[in-house]
Amino acid sequence: MPIVACAFDRPQAAQGTVPRDILVLGAGMAGLTAALALMRRGHRVKVIECQKRVGGRLLSVPLQGGQYSEADGGHFRSNMPYVLGYVRHFKLPLLSLNDGLPRYFVDGRMADAARLSDWPWDLAPDERGVTISSTLNRYLLAHGLDTDTVLDARWPDPETLAALDLSTVEDLILAAGGSPDFCRLLDAHGGGFTKRGSALCAIPDLAYHFGDQNLFRIRGGNDLLPAAMARALGERIVLGARVVAIDQSGARAVVTVDDGRTFDGDAIVCTIPFTVLKEVAVAPAWSVRK
Ligand SMILES: Cc1cc2nc3c(=O)[nH]c(=O)nc-3n(C[C@H](O)[C@H](O)[C@H](O)COP(=O)(O)OP(=O)(O)OC[C@H]3O[C@@H](n4cnc5c(N)ncnc54)[C@H](O)[C@@H]3O)c2cc1C
Repeated sequence: MPIVACAFDRPQAAQGTVPRDILVLGAGMAGLTAALALMRRGHRVKVIECQKRVGGRLLSVPLQGGQYSEADGGHFRSNMPYVLGYVRHFKLPLLSLNDGLPRYFVDGRMADAARLSDWPWDLAPDERGVTISSTLNRYLLAHGLDTDTVLDARWPDPETLAALDLSTVEDLILAAGGSPDFCRLLDAHGGGFTKRGSALCAIPDLAYHFGDQNLFRIRGGNDLLPAAMARALGERIVLGARVVAIDQSGARAVVTVDDGRTFDGDAIVCTIPFTVLKEVAVAPAWSVRK
């Protein structure tokens, strides 16, 4: 299956593009982004989505007083040019978050991150008066890790893989001189799994959350973004159609949905998450590697 991506504001419509019929499976951010990019290049797209709404794992839940809680994707960062490009393009209003200054409530004691000197936990001297993110970064650096490198798709290299395999984040912190109370604060900040999580798995997530404190959310709910993207795609989106089969064995790719309808195209961009993709019949079968 071809994978297609294109920034919103990059030069469009490559000269000589032959318009093709493309089926995009799934109307989460990946599917909507792919569909818009293809549409801009002059292709004919159809997005097939099983739910009766777009957005997938972006869902904003209205609360009282005009506030919103984000059920899934909660915030985005200044180093996400594609997301921010679309937010600007659709003129959606941004909110800044103070995730770098939370209030911690750990072991019955509470303190504000903004008042570092008052922290009531049993921290090492070097952990006092410093934010959790700065201290974490210092401990990561002691192991040759930094918050940029670990976000690179090529990370980890085989040597790092072997070195960190079976290590938890807590193992790394304690080995670098961190205190158990610092680990508890990190858990409170990053999620209860943090210190026990596999270092290989948790460190990119921590880097994402701690590396850059410029966090944003869309005023009125993050799912305003997929809603705006869907409006731009208009009738190209088919909702309430669960893909049950993908057949690429013939001259045209054919997709069957749960009510028996079929859609055909020259190519498919599949953004259905792997966990549910295994319930879809595919022909020819996936390669062994997939
Ligand atoms: C709790 C939580 C918090 C998160 N926090 C953040 C965050 O703060 N910042 C951040 O950047 N990211 C965050 N994420 C991740 C982010 O939300 C996802 O990476 C992103 O939304 C995934 O988009 P996607 O299009 O790849 O997948 P999805 O959003 O899952 O889209 C897949 C689409 O395919 C549809 N589909 C599934 N099966 C079928 C089928 N058989 N036929 C047709 N359609 C089908 C689904 O209904 C869905 O609409 C968070 C995720 C979660 C769960």
